[in-house]
Amino acid sequence: MPEPIDLSTDAEHDGATAAVDETAALASTKPPAPLQADFVLGNSQIAPGQRMVVDIPFGKLYTHTELNIGAHVIHGKRPGPVLLITAALHGDEINGVEICRRLLRLPRLNNLKGTLVVVPIVNTYGFVQQSRYLPDRRDLNRSFPGSEKGSLGSRMAWQFTDRILKKCTHVIDLHTGAIHRSNYPQVRATSKDKVSLKMAESFNAPIIIKAASRDGTMRGTANGLGIPIILYEAGEALRFDEQAINIGVRGIVNVMHSLGMLRTLKRQQKTGSLFSKKSSWIRAEHDGIARYYQRLGQIVTAGDVLAHIYSPYSDFEVAVLAPFSGIIIGRNNLPLVNEGEALFHIAEVSELAEAEKTLDAISDEVDNAMPAALGNDYSVV
Ligand SMILES: [Zn+2]
Repeated sequence: MPEPIDLSTDAEHDGATAAVDETAALASTKPPAPLQADFVLGNSQIAPGQRMVVDIPFGKLYTHTELNIGAHVIHGKRPGPVLLITAALHGDEINGVEICRRLLRLPRLNNLKGTLVVVPIVNTYGFVQQSRYLPDRRDLNRSFPGSEKGSLGSRMAWQFTDRILKKCTHVIDLHTGAIHRSNYPQVRATSKDKVSLKMAESFNAPIIIKAASRDGTMRGTANGLGIPIILYEAGEALRFDEQAINIGVRGIVNVMHSLGMLRTLKRQQKTGSLFSKKSSWIRAEHDGIARYYQRLGQIVTAGDVLAHIYSPYSDFEVAVLAPFSGIIIGRNNLPLVNEGEALFHIAEVSELAEAEKTLDAISDEVDNAMPAALGNDYSVV
């Protein structure tokens, strides 16, 4: 079957390959653009060009309160990818909720090709409790793909996979560091899937970590289902971080451009992300009180002092050194440390000499972007 012909003003969406019917081309009035089919999510049917918030039932609390997962659906008039954005899969990772808010305010979504499904709060239990976990202390993002008859987390994961994930063709999952830990804006993707890698590059975060997904994660399940997925990590649990939010909003829009869901804008050449194939946490060899000296995004060389750990009752003090060169992509913000505590997360990159320029350029590009392009009128501090 030939490609459907769309003679609307967004001609660039259709490429040069669409076969043009001569009669239609010669006709003085353009035929209406073909609409895509309705999109069904939960018990809702969304018509092309329609936008709505869908409540998908996910059981009840023991108070008999109904529990739903809410999803914003923007169903474009014309067919295209179905992109799923998820946040707060870990209930205390709230940065992504704000990324979703700003994304949904962008006027350019009115000309969407395909479908955008945005779930700002996946782990509603954890979000209410301001906790990463579920009420049974399990981690929802270690419970995938789950099962219909398993634990609470397992059932939620199974339902989420069946009712939402499988309806989508591409996924961006938004995370932050755990409590008391900050992550430098970074995207994680498996190097085994070319589409995921392309999405990671398009996102244009400062760093891309090529890493296989962990067992039990939504990313692992999506990979197994052949659904391209990237994970964006930035900021700290229970906090908003303006730069992390802006890089996230811009990143999602960049991916939507590359998937053909949004009209391509004429824009300047972007600075490409740095790639890392290996990253490790540097852990405390002693317990005590830590003074940290390196910020996120800092480039360190092997032997640099990252921190000192001291005892409040003696002269004991020990330096924590960088065991290898790289970029600080995660750090602990709590100065009270037990032996074995993760302190600094360092990513190795091959082009370290150029890394500083690259990181500065990307952060300048985001800082200089127009607020309207990032869905925001005010900056949080
Ligand atoms: Zn997380």
